[in-house]
Amino acid sequence: MLTLIAMFSLISLPYAPNALEPVISQQTIEFHYGKHLQTYVDNLNKLVPGTEYEAMALEDIVRRSQGAVFNNAGQILNHNLYFTQFSPLDAANHTPRGAILEAINRDFGSFENFMQEFEQKGITLFGSGWVWLSADKDGKLIITQETNAGNPLTKGLKPLLTMDVWEHAYYLDFQNRRAAHLHALWQIINWDEINRRYTGK
Ligand code: MN
Repeated sequence: MLTLIAMFSLISLPYAPNALEPVISQQTIEFHYGKHLQTYVDNLNKLVPGTEYEAMALEDIVRRSQGAVFNNAGQILNHNLYFTQFSPLDAANHTPRGAILEAINRDFGSFENFMQEFEQKGITLFGSGWVWLSADKDGKLIITQETNAGNPLTKGLKPLLTMDVWEHAYYLDFQNRRAAHLHALWQIINWDEINRRYTGK
């Protein structure tokens, strides 16, 4: 009998499944987190036993793999960063402060300019993928588009914040209105978490 050891597991959400409503509904959380992300975890756990990736950290798999392993590992890493960057709608951390705010002002002129550029990169990404805010090795902020399971880690960048533009992320709540969904997401970003990722503290 084959015993499958689950090496990768579904992350816990740092909020209740209805805490992001009405920006992200409980139903979307149930499908996006409970079904889509769970499937990527299950797939990777079937793909890696007996391969060089077996004992590797998720980030290293994403840096080194291709094909099905990359797609599933990338989607796990992307969704882990995505789902842990939100806080309940009534939380007090939905605007940046501290080092991340200083860096945004320095590299984009203002928080308003940054949000506008970020949304535009999300709107103009054709097909499925992710728009990212990352830091380069000098701490300079950069917005990039990645298709499918892509993660800026593979370009030597440190991923800080992301918006998922796969239709499964917004179709139940916003149908075809991707731009409206992206604009609404600012209401639930946990900027203390983004600042922690930026400063490493
Ligand atoms: Mn997704």
